[in-house]
Amino acid sequence: QKPEVIIIGRPNVGKSTLFNRLVGKKLALVDDQPGVTRDRRMGDAEIAGMSFTVVDTAGWEDEDAETLPGRMRAQTEVSIEGADAAMFVIDARAGLTPLDEEIARWLRSEEIPVVLVANKAEGKAGESGVLESYSLGLGDPVALSAEHGEGVADLFGALWPII
Ligand code: GDP
Ligand code: MG
Repeated sequence: QKPEVIIIGRPNVGKSTLFNRLVGKKLALVDDQPGVTRDRRMGDAEIAGMSFTVVDTAGWEDEDAETLPGRMRAQTEVSIEGADAAMFVIDARAGLTPLDEEIARWLRSEEIPVVLVANKAEGKAGESGVLESYSLGLGDPVALSAEHGEGVADLFGALWPII
């Protein structure tokens, strides 16, 4: 059984872009579980002999996201049950938001090992966001650009010891 790594984060931080980057052309299947975890996509990632299943989630992207944090959390909670590690993605260009902090607080209370990913870190525009993300209390961020494919090797370096 391959290790399973789940991608978590607020809307628009680049979770699905990271998923596609990691899975490449080998997008395996769409796994819909209506009413439980909407839009939960799974795929196989493989690099340098390391192979794992990646799960893209939209649990924090509910239409009523602002008013139903409990429900969003419940959806993500179901999704992380079977996962061996989580990648928590923030947008280094936008900087931290209250929802990022809420998700981080929740993740810190969970047992699952977390890799903090500061996405959209290409160029100078992401630098302050990367630094800011240390304050989430989830360890050193991995700065990367899912869109441009930069920093992905660092991500594997961070995942390798925990899965
Ligand atoms: P999700 O809602 O978290 O799944 O985010 P998406 O993957 O749908 O991406 C949201 C937006 O961010 C899209 O317009 C992407 O093109 C953009 N995006 C994703 N990754 C990067 C990145 O590394 N750099 C920049 N500049 N934009 C990115
Ligand atoms: Mg998405």
